[in-house]
Amino acid sequence: MALPKKKLFIKTFGCQMNVADSQQMAQVLADDFEVTERPEEADLYLINTCAIRHKAEAKVQSLLGSLKALKQRRPQLILGVGGCVAQRQGEQLLTAVPHLDLVFGTHGIYRLPQLVRRAAYRPVAQVETAAGLAPSPRRHWAPGQVQALVTIMQGCDNFCTFCVVPYVRGREYSRPPGEIAAEVADFLAAGGKEVTLLGQNVNSYGRGLPQPITFPELLRRIGPLPGLARLRFTTSHPRDLSPELMAAFGELAPLCEHLHLPVQSGSDRILEAMHRGYGSREYLEKVAVLRRACPGLSLTTDLIVGFPGESEADFQATLDLMTAAAFDQAFSFKYSPRPQTRAATFADQVSEGVKTERLQRLQTLQEKFTLKAHERLVGQRREVLVEKLSKRSPEQLCGRLRTNQVVNFSGPPELVGRLVQVRIEQAHPHSLKGRWLADRPPAEGHHPEGAQGE
Ligand code: SF4
Repeated sequence: MALPKKKLFIKTFGCQMNVADSQQMAQVLADDFEVTERPEEADLYLINTCAIRHKAEAKVQSLLGSLKALKQRRPQLILGVGGCVAQRQGEQLLTAVPHLDLVFGTHGIYRLPQLVRRAAYRPVAQVETAAGLAPSPRRHWAPGQVQALVTIMQGCDNFCTFCVVPYVRGREYSRPPGEIAAEVADFLAAGGKEVTLLGQNVNSYGRGLPQPITFPELLRRIGPLPGLARLRFTTSHPRDLSPELMAAFGELAPLCEHLHLPVQSGSDRILEAMHRGYGSREYLEKVAVLRRACPGLSLTTDLIVGFPGESEADFQATLDLMTAAAFDQAFSFKYSPRPQTRAATFADQVSEGVKTERLQRLQTLQEKFTLKAHERLVGQRREVLVEKLSKRSPEQLCGRLRTNQVVNFSGPPELVGRLVQVRIEQAHPHSLKGRWLADRPPAEGHHPEGAQGE
């Protein structure tokens, strides 16, 4: 008789790459562990960390401190830290957090089963932060899973001066296209509907492969796979956004009308200091081409305020670019100096007070654009992929449009995982409220949203 599986709790910080990595961790450990949502019953507690901003790293430190009591109560609990902080700090983490059993970097996920076994039997902490290409074993898809994050590449060669990613995730490495297509096909055969292709800079996908292939070529290979209703990707570097990729938005039916295109700043001087490789004019020209190729496109971005040397005029240039681009949503952050990065050594750091004040002004401006974008949707019939029951009420469902906005509406729980038609009735700052059009059969194919406005 098989022994009951032990419990695994994973706390994930950071981006979608980290979410995908956490899913991989659960999968490689699935022979011995089942995932629990309750940390107090875990036999193995893993923290998947993010090093991109100081604040994210501080949250990890604080969580680790608070877990000391749990570890004292349950000494058999195995406590591990993975991801970018683990990759960057390695053994140093053990000095700061002696109650840790396991430290593994971004390249160590596939060695987790051995590490966990060793941690269970040996009194010394296990550390695995060696760099190296991670093999990609065949993934198993959970029954009923309709959305998949599929990592197509690791690392980054860009070395933007504010970013720690190339130091922790390493140099760019693309997975072979056949392996990616097989993984997506498996997912679709198991009933999957939406795939998000992930990489730090997907636009440079394929460069180092023995038979180089471009990212748009990969999209054309994945797009026609039977059963694929929605295809997304992130993250795109504006410099590498090719005409071919922009054209794909008007050509590939499953490709959702949403692009996340991080601009970071609207000041050419700051963009140069960031080593981004494009100027504000080039960025806006690309936005114009994209909007022509795909009129209903929803455009989102990342913005940094208070990069070293940012003057009021530089900041104003960012606000001007935001107005010109009319982003549907922007993820904005105060600049945070990260170890090893060049910008951390720049002399003209901006004070915390100025950063806070600018962030507030920027976010106030963005809120207006986001609300306007939401208001434009009111009255329209749209396709929604229902993701989950709302936390507030079991009768409320929560899903996303192809353009990525969140919609809440009333409906039976059986709709979770299905594509349905919803009329948008109210616009809120962070979401939309809709009404399920129950009389319309749930759409199981793709519906380019541009055709559905009423
Ligand atoms: S493109 Fe720049 S910001 Fe993005 S991961 Fe690479 S170095 Fe970091």
